[in-house]
Amino acid sequence: MAKNYDYAIIGGGIGGLMCAYRIIERKPSASVILIEKGADLSNRNCPIISKKASRCVKCPSCAIMEGLAGAGAFSDGKYIISCEYGGWLPDFMAQETVLDYIEQADKILVSFGATTERFNPDDELKKKCLQQNLHMQQATVKHLGTDSNLETMLKMVEHIKESCEILTETDAYDVDIKAHEIMLRKKDGAESSITADSVIFAVGRAGSGFFSDWCRKNDIPLTNNQVDIGVRVELPSMIWEDFSKKIYEPKIWYRSHGYGDITRMFCFNERGSVVTENTRGVLTVNGHAFRDEKKKTRNSNFALLSTIRFTSPFHEPIEYARHVASLANLISGGSVLVQRLGDLELGRRTDEKRLRACTTRPTLDAVAGDLSLCMPKRQLDNIVETLHALNKVAPGTANSDTLLYGVECKYYSARPANEDFEIAGCKGIYAIGDGAGFTRSLSQASANGLYVADKITK
Ligand SMILES: Cc1cc2nc3c(=O)[nH]c(=O)nc-3n(C[C@H](O)[C@H](O)[C@H](O)COP(=O)(O)OP(=O)(O)OC[C@H]3O[C@@H](n4cnc5c(N)ncnc54)[C@H](O)[C@@H]3O)c2cc1C
Repeated sequence: MAKNYDYAIIGGGIGGLMCAYRIIERKPSASVILIEKGADLSNRNCPIISKKASRCVKCPSCAIMEGLAGAGAFSDGKYIISCEYGGWLPDFMAQETVLDYIEQADKILVSFGATTERFNPDDELKKKCLQQNLHMQQATVKHLGTDSNLETMLKMVEHIKESCEILTETDAYDVDIKAHEIMLRKKDGAESSITADSVIFAVGRAGSGFFSDWCRKNDIPLTNNQVDIGVRVELPSMIWEDFSKKIYEPKIWYRSHGYGDITRMFCFNERGSVVTENTRGVLTVNGHAFRDEKKKTRNSNFALLSTIRFTSPFHEPIEYARHVASLANLISGGSVLVQRLGDLELGRRTDEKRLRACTTRPTLDAVAGDLSLCMPKRQLDNIVETLHALNKVAPGTANSDTLLYGVECKYYSARPANEDFEIAGCKGIYAIGDGAGFTRSLSQASANGLYVADKITK
């Protein structure tokens, strides 16, 4: 007979970990299990980060996205203390409640060693942007740093392990909604199952495909969110220094004249590196920044993504973005593309020779190519127009040697019908975090985990 637990959490990202932390804090005698598909945090090894490979080798389980501490493990840990962006929790709870939970999660992270330093909004910069038709989103932000974020998460995981059983390299591939039986498959193929009184899906973006399929199989209505497609921009760090020194992360949106679409600049990494990300076999780009001075580069990078909301009859935004990114993988011979803005505007490919002559040195070994062969014209036009708008507040942004890496996508998972995070028609089964389309940041995923833990331990 399958062993029964009081609480089972599927997914060991920040949302799942915060949920486990709060459950064992509130109910020390409860039996709690956390199931994670990827490796233990100390065993997560990306061949690119450990310098064993210069390009993504498409590991069966992506160490960047999967494993204890989830997608945030190697992120540079920008912790947003605001409801202005970072997810959709304020659609479900009062803003003050969301903020309160974000602060509670921050206290927990600080207790495991996270920095207490905060960067506050700056109205002068906001005004400067508004004068150029650019909209800067304001928030108090903490920058944990890729290295110290990892150390904080290691300590938190060790603490949780003392009172919660953690199964790593174990895929929870099905959950029976009546019996609450969770079907498990180990990395070596061995199968087993457990049951739990309360089940929490905290599967992140890496598990969003699995979760949506599970919802469809169980007739749980889903609503699709937007998809954002664009590029990672890399340029000399001095260009955005006026902003980054004051507020750490400029987040700015712009409505293009051409299409009236929103294009957003975000995920800013000062003196960081561009990296690849493998989502279910499709390579996309992202960025990192370390706190350690020795690991800093001379460049900064940020995401510049154009938002698309599809209307009927199309309802597969994630598949659309994956197709666009796959095209970049295809024409780059299985990698990602990099192009000089100057070449893109002249309608020509960046080749190896032009890239060698480029004054901005790339921090990622991407294939020099032509983004216009894989990115839809509409998104590419939006991106170029936005770069020129940004150039007015940070001159040099639209320099010919500005590098554009493609494709970067942010997929937001489909959201299940739910009542206060309990999935419709599934008593005792909850969903939290990025995988259920409620959040898109470390702080809101953390807040969501703590909130649901409080609710189910009452
Ligand atoms: C490179 C990168 C940088 C980022 N930087 C920032 C940043 O600076 N600031 C910020 O706020 N946000 C950042 N984010 C986003 C942030 O990491 C996510 O919003 C956050 O991790 C979401 O937490 P989560 O717990 O919902 O999901 P995740 O952290 O994605 O965790 C979900 C976990 O569930 C596991 N899982 C999935 N399916 C199953 C299954 N069937 N069985 C068992 N386990 C399963 C996965 O392996 C994963 O470990 C970044 C993301 C990436 C990829």
